[in-house]
Amino acid sequence: MPQTVLLTGASGYIAKHIALQLLEAGYHVRGTVRSLSRADEVTAAVRPHLSDDSDLDKRLTFVALDLSSDDGWNAAMDGIDVLMHTASPFPMTQPKNDDELIRPAVDGALRALKAAYQAGVRRVIMTSSTVAISGSALPPGDSSYDETNWTDPDDPAVTAYGKSKTLAEKAAWDFQRDHAPEMNLTMVNPGFVVGPPLDNKFSTSVGVIERILKAKDPMLPHFGFGSVDVLDVAEMHVSVIDKPETFGQRIMTVDRFIWFVDMAKAIKAAFPDRKIVTRLAPNFVVRFLALFDPAIKSIIPALGQEQKMDNSRAIATLGRGMRQSQKSIVACAKHLIDNGLV
Ligand code: NAP
Repeated sequence: MPQTVLLTGASGYIAKHIALQLLEAGYHVRGTVRSLSRADEVTAAVRPHLSDDSDLDKRLTFVALDLSSDDGWNAAMDGIDVLMHTASPFPMTQPKNDDELIRPAVDGALRALKAAYQAGVRRVIMTSSTVAISGSALPPGDSSYDETNWTDPDDPAVTAYGKSKTLAEKAAWDFQRDHAPEMNLTMVNPGFVVGPPLDNKFSTSVGVIERILKAKDPMLPHFGFGSVDVLDVAEMHVSVIDKPETFGQRIMTVDRFIWFVDMAKAIKAAFPDRKIVTRLAPNFVVRFLALFDPAIKSIIPALGQEQKMDNSRAIATLGRGMRQSQKSIVACAKHLIDNGLV
């Protein structure tokens, strides 16, 4: 009998890749969506990539759940073997009120974990982020971030999104420790996720590549991310299910840090006929523009900071090196161009 995974946020960019990899690995998937009207979209995204799409309507099913409502969580866990909790709000711009992100992230994680525990589900994989690791300065003497580092959510430099991911991850670990010690929890902490989406819907990280392709900004900020291919992130979620050595672990899932300008240069080299801005903006200009553009404002605290990240645990867990994320950025740009999205 195949194991069934409850995959929250199945309409998401990363979750569609996870659903595909789960199905290919022989799992059944019950995806959660806010509205069942999104169910066909997820099935359509996954189907063309399956090696065998027979019985897909039995292997991939859906339930409607919202992170902000108690309705339906207990019923959704019936017959579930594994909870994979990816749903969390991830907007391009930060809201005026931090709680717009923090409450659904934290309360939603607790709803998911509590319902799973009450239903006897003992294997849980949750999607956190490197923003829960590297949002605050390293301790003196350290040169790279690893899974022992935590973002301080009270640090004024931390964005609402950074707070939401940090507090949701902390809430999950606290719940597991205090109320569900038999629950085997693994936390996947991806960096900036890139690579072609399975369809033409995409998340904020792909939106950044879209922004470079649209040459929206006259210059690029001295800013970057620890980046990672979406296929590696999905594989990490799926491959840890049966790895007891990852119980209780955070796994920082990144390839390497890439400056914005280097992302743009890689895209420009692949598509030389397109207008792509590769000029670096002085930091004072970016600080000025941030007064008018909330998306720019959210990067100010990390301006000019190259964050080194130790990905040795991710490499050991996957048993191979990470995909080169510069190539994933170019492949992502190609998807947007080929599908007329830019
Ligand atoms: P995404 O495409 O925006 O997916 C987010 C998912 O969460 C969507 O399915 C969304 O549903 C769902 N969601 C948001 N608010 C919800 C609510 N109140 N109730 C129920 N579902 C809700 O973004 P993504 O990049 O795939 O992100 C997936 C996860 O990875 C998130 O936890 C994100 O924080 C994390 N992550 C992403 C990156 C990255 O660079 N992309 C990096 C690190 C971590 P709708 O489709 O209905 O909006």
